[in-house]
Amino acid sequence: MAEDAPAPDHPGAVWHPSPNFGPRRHGGDPNLIVIHYTAMKSARAALDRLCDPAPADGGAVSAHYLVCERGEVWQMVAERDRAWHAGAGNWAGCEDVNSHSVGIELANDGDSPFAAPLMDTLEGLLTGIMTRWRIGPAGVIGHSDMAPGRKIDPGPRFDWRRLARQGLAVWPEQGAAGDFDADLAAIGYRAPEGADDALMLDTFRMRFRPWGRGPLTEADRCAARAVAAACRAG
Ligand SMILES: [Zn+2]
Repeated sequence: MAEDAPAPDHPGAVWHPSPNFGPRRHGGDPNLIVIHYTAMKSARAALDRLCDPAPADGGAVSAHYLVCERGEVWQMVAERDRAWHAGAGNWAGCEDVNSHSVGIELANDGDSPFAAPLMDTLEGLLTGIMTRWRIGPAGVIGHSDMAPGRKIDPGPRFDWRRLARQGLAVWPEQGAAGDFDADLAAIGYRAPEGADDALMLDTFRMRFRPWGRGPLTEADRCAARAVAAACRAG
């Protein structure tokens, strides 16, 4: 091992540096954690892609962490630095999500259930990041939340409710219906230019009501009101 190899921020992580990072802009600490899936055929292929400075098939990308199906975790970018995982989008008024977030890639093809050892590791990883940077459960979001219509990861199969039970994400409790658009804005969502109402309903459902179908219902409005309340609390 090289003498100057930095220790990973997460004690259980294997340090595997990516050249694809820079300083955080605006001088702020991260206040979000963005969860992704890799949509690649293997974790090793994803690791190579996230560390490739000049990929043949597109721009250079990275993330702070990659968790593989068996629960191993690689750290590619130091948490204090800005990794390139979020891209265009915004959340809660923040336009430069990369500068204000820690990015976690989960090895998953987008169609299969998330492996149990992966979820176990993710819980420990989230707990550590949230403690180090004082990020509350409302600060843990999916890539789809901040890039409606452009990104769908971590997708409807990801178990947000399990994370919420550990205080690692928000999940709606029972509540009254509210103004759906106003509640989405309070949660942090912003519709892209020219988006129709169905896109934001689909985006919200992918995260919080993946079984929801058809036009906006009372249940959607109840869920949005409850998530907005949970975000205000945490
Ligand atoms: Zn993503």
